[in-house]
Amino acid sequence: MKMSICHFCGNKNFKPNLVQYTYKKDGKYIIIDDVPCQQCEYCGEQYFEASVLKNIEFEYEAIHSKGKNIKKKLIIPIESYTEIGNETNVT
Ligand SMILES: [Zn+2]
Repeated sequence: MKMSICHFCGNKNFKPNLVQYTYKKDGKYIIIDDVPCQQCEYCGEQYFEASVLKNIEFEYEAIHSKGKNIKKKLIIPIESYTEIGNETNVT
């Protein structure tokens, strides 16, 4: 994929990069490291090839639907902001 212009900032310079990509579907996640993308040199927006995104989607199905074994797991705490209180007010 050759990017010509960034949709966010209008910058025309991109560099290839490897980034961490988080894919979420139906409240489940996978996180993939070292995903190739073109990154805007100005604002950092990342652009991915459609085929790369397809591969990630496929991997998601393999893990969540077909029970593929994975190398690493991450437990992520999730809270609603309405429930965490105003902790900076505590004196
Ligand atoms: Zn940009």
